[in-house]
Amino acid sequence: MKMTWGWYRNGAEATLADIQSQVGKGWGDILERLVIDLANLGWNGEVMQVKEKFGVLCFYVGASNAAIRNRIDQAGEESAITCEWCGQLGSVDERYHWMLTLCPQCSEKRRVDTELREAKALERLAEQGTKSTA
Ligand SMILES: [Zn+2]
Repeated sequence: MKMTWGWYRNGAEATLADIQSQVGKGWGDILERLVIDLANLGWNGEVMQVKEKFGVLCFYVGASNAAIRNRIDQAGEESAITCEWCGQLGSVDERYHWMLTLCPQCSEKRRVDTELREAKALERLAEQGTKSTA
Protein backbone atom coordinates (compact mmCIF):
# COMPACT_ATOMS: atom_id res chain seq x y z
CA MET A 1 0.00 0.00 0.00
CA LYS A 2 1.10 3.56 -0.60
CA MET A 3 1.90 5.47 2.58
CA THR A 4 2.33 9.22 2.89
CA TRP A 5 3.59 11.57 5.58
CA GLY A 6 0.47 13.76 5.55
CA TRP A 7 0.75 17.48 6.22
CA TYR A 8 3.61 16.76 8.58
CA ARG A 9 5.94 16.47 5.55
CA ASN A 10 3.80 17.92 2.76
CA GLY A 11 2.29 14.56 1.85
CA ALA A 12 5.60 13.04 0.74
CA GLU A 13 5.61 9.31 0.16
CA ALA A 14 6.60 7.29 3.25
CA THR A 15 8.29 3.95 2.62
CA LEU A 16 8.47 1.27 5.31
CA ALA A 17 12.22 2.00 5.56
CA ASP A 18 11.48 5.72 6.12
CA ILE A 19 9.03 4.86 8.88
CA GLN A 20 11.42 2.36 10.48
CA SER A 21 14.29 4.89 10.40
CA GLN A 22 12.42 7.19 12.81
CA VAL A 23 13.16 4.87 15.74
CA GLY A 24 15.75 2.25 16.72
CA LYS A 25 16.32 -0.86 14.57
CA GLY A 26 14.94 -3.11 17.31
CA TRP A 27 11.42 -1.87 16.62
CA GLY A 28 11.59 -2.44 12.85
CA ASP A 29 9.66 -5.69 13.01
CA ILE A 30 6.92 -4.20 15.21
CA LEU A 31 6.46 -1.41 12.64
CA GLU A 32 6.44 -3.76 9.66
CA ARG A 33 3.66 -5.88 11.18
CA LEU A 34 1.82 -2.76 12.31
CA VAL A 35 1.52 -1.15 8.85
CA ILE A 36 0.41 -4.45 7.27
CA ASP A 37 -2.31 -4.91 9.91
CA LEU A 38 -3.40 -1.27 9.65
CA ALA A 39 -3.78 -1.60 5.88
CA ASN A 40 -6.05 -4.61 6.47
CA LEU A 41 -8.10 -2.54 8.93
CA GLY A 42 -8.81 0.11 6.32
CA TRP A 43 -6.08 2.62 7.17
CA ASN A 44 -5.56 5.17 4.37
CA GLY A 45 -1.76 5.05 4.71
CA GLU A 46 -1.39 8.57 6.08
CA VAL A 47 1.21 8.63 8.85
CA MET A 48 1.91 11.88 10.67
CA GLN A 49 4.79 11.00 12.94
CA VAL A 50 6.68 7.99 14.27
CA LYS A 51 8.81 8.43 17.36
CA GLU A 52 9.91 7.08 20.70
CA LYS A 53 8.47 8.81 23.75
CA PHE A 54 9.17 7.71 27.33
CA GLY A 55 10.56 4.44 25.98
CA VAL A 56 7.42 3.61 23.99
CA LEU A 57 6.75 3.61 20.25
CA CYS A 58 4.35 6.37 19.17
CA PHE A 59 2.68 6.06 15.77
CA TYR A 60 0.47 8.95 14.76
CA VAL A 61 -1.91 8.58 11.83
CA GLY A 62 -4.37 10.90 10.13
CA ALA A 63 -7.82 9.35 9.82
CA SER A 64 -8.42 6.39 12.13
CA ASN A 65 -11.12 4.25 13.70
CA ALA A 66 -11.33 2.22 16.92
CA ALA A 67 -9.75 -0.89 15.35
CA ILE A 68 -6.83 1.15 13.98
CA ARG A 69 -6.29 2.89 17.33
CA ASN A 70 -6.40 -0.45 19.17
CA ARG A 71 -3.81 -1.97 16.85
CA ILE A 72 -1.54 1.08 17.32
CA ASP A 73 -1.94 0.81 21.12
CA GLN A 74 -0.98 -2.86 20.86
CA ALA A 75 2.22 -1.92 18.98
CA GLY A 76 3.00 0.59 21.74
CA GLU A 77 2.57 -2.10 24.39
CA GLU A 78 4.79 -4.45 22.41
CA SER A 79 7.49 -1.76 22.10
CA ALA A 80 7.46 -1.27 25.89
CA ILE A 81 8.90 -4.79 26.31
CA THR A 82 11.12 -4.81 23.19
CA CYS A 83 14.69 -3.44 23.15
CA GLU A 84 14.65 -0.46 20.77
CA TRP A 85 18.26 -1.15 19.75
CA CYS A 86 18.27 -4.91 19.07
CA GLY A 87 14.71 -6.26 19.34
CA GLN A 88 15.37 -8.61 22.29
CA LEU A 89 13.09 -8.65 25.32
CA GLY A 90 13.61 -5.37 27.16
CA SER A 91 12.30 -3.05 29.82
CA VAL A 92 12.38 0.69 30.40
CA ASP A 93 15.87 1.89 31.27
CA GLU A 94 15.52 4.98 33.47
CA ARG A 95 19.17 5.29 34.39
CA TYR A 96 19.57 8.56 32.48
CA HIS A 97 17.11 11.38 31.96
CA TRP A 98 16.06 9.99 28.55
CA MET A 99 13.95 6.85 29.08
CA LEU A 100 14.61 4.02 26.61
CA THR A 101 13.32 0.48 26.38
CA LEU A 102 16.42 -1.71 26.28
CA CYS A 103 17.49 -5.29 26.95
CA PRO A 104 20.09 -5.87 29.72
CA GLN A 105 23.00 -6.03 27.22
CA CYS A 106 22.08 -2.80 25.41
CA SER A 107 21.38 -1.10 28.73
CA GLU A 108 24.93 -2.03 29.83
CA LYS A 109 26.33 -0.77 26.51
CA ARG A 110 24.45 2.48 27.04
CA ARG A 111 25.93 2.83 30.55
CA VAL A 112 29.49 2.25 29.29
CA ASP A 113 29.07 4.61 26.29
CA THR A 114 27.47 7.33 28.42
CA GLU A 115 30.19 7.15 31.08
CA LEU A 116 32.89 7.25 28.39
CA ARG A 117 31.25 10.27 26.76
CA GLU A 118 30.93 12.06 30.10
CA ALA A 119 34.56 11.29 30.99
CA LYS A 120 35.71 12.70 27.63
CA ALA A 121 33.60 15.83 28.11
CA LEU A 122 35.13 16.35 31.55
CA GLU A 123 38.62 15.84 30.10
CA ARG A 124 37.93 18.48 27.44
CA LEU A 125 36.65 20.89 30.08
CA ALA A 126 39.76 20.28 32.19
CA GLU A 127 41.98 20.90 29.13
CA GLN A 128 40.17 24.13 28.34
CA GLY A 129 40.52 25.21 31.95
CA THR A 130 44.28 24.56 31.84
CA LYS A 131 44.62 26.54 28.58
CA SER A 132 42.59 29.52 29.76
CA THR A 133 44.58 29.87 32.99
CA ALA A 134 47.96 29.34 31.25
ZN1 LIG B 1 19.13 -4.81 23.12
